[in-house]
Amino acid sequence: MTVANHTDNRAGRLYVISAPSGGGKTSLTRAVIARLGEGGRIARFSVSYTTRAARAGEVDGVDYHFVTREVFEAMIARGEFLEYARVFDRYYGTSAAETERWLDAGQDVVLDIDWQGAAQVRERAPQAVTIFIRPPSRQELERRLRARGSEDEAAIQRRLAEADDELAHADDYDYQIVNDRFERALDELTRIFERTA
Ligand code: 5GP
Repeated sequence: MTVANHTDNRAGRLYVISAPSGGGKTSLTRAVIARLGEGGRIARFSVSYTTRAARAGEVDGVDYHFVTREVFEAMIARGEFLEYARVFDRYYGTSAAETERWLDAGQDVVLDIDWQGAAQVRERAPQAVTIFIRPPSRQELERRLRARGSEDEAAIQRRLAEADDELAHADDYDYQIVNDRFERALDELTRIFERTA
């Protein structure tokens, strides 16, 4: 049985949100989940598995499940991922079982994943709603990445290269939102969730 059959008939709805990092995706996603909760609608932010090292302040099991490459590759071999991607030397993936559990419970699940993962979800769960969040411009994205101050120049250059890669796939998504002002983008994102409930 494929995951497509699994996810599509479940009670909750699956959402995919992608954006170049530094695009404000995580804050927007957390804010929309909080806002929907005020109306009684439960949406879960899926916690991905990754082989990258935790950044300062990140908590295992909250921001990511941080695992070794051996563990991640064993999970791939057992078919445990709804989708996964390799970005440079790091793996990122979404647990199929965890996602299905929440969907079965009638809760919406929000995946914050890259374009490679989004393409796999589109194949396996065609009813998923996919949303791409764009920075107002590439210059603004670069400014935001530098303002974070958490990474060295090489890492920033790598993020910019990843961002270009990500932006090249924006047209594949059901919806695109420009994150020019946080509140405006949040309103737009909320409306998409309301429309697709
Ligand atoms: P970061 O290292 O900044 O936390 O994330 C880098 C990129 O990996 C982001 O674009 C994020 O959306 C993506 N990502 C995070 N988790 C997953 C996942 O489970 N699957 C896929 N395909 N991408 C992910």
